[in-house]
Amino acid sequence: MALLICPKCKENSFTWFINGKTHVTSWNCFNCDYEAKETDSHKSICENCEKNTKIKLKDKEKEYRWCSSCNQITP
Ligand SMILES: [Zn+2]
Ligand SMILES: [Zn+2]
Repeated sequence: MALLICPKCKENSFTWFINGKTHVTSWNCFNCDYEAKETDSHKSICENCEKNTKIKLKDKEKEYRWCSSCNQITP
């Protein structure tokens, strides 16, 4: 599984797994222990890199959109 840049600590240690019970995709960083859930499985086009890799993530504090290609974050 490919490792991605963590939105929080910016280390190359962000990865995802699918919860067997809820089928929700969870993202987890094994460097800083940051966790977020994917709230919308629909990917959208990133305004920055124009790839179809922008997803919605929700953590304990906020919900935001994150691009897994260029790491751009938007509200
Ligand atoms: Zn991290
Ligand atoms: Zn992007």
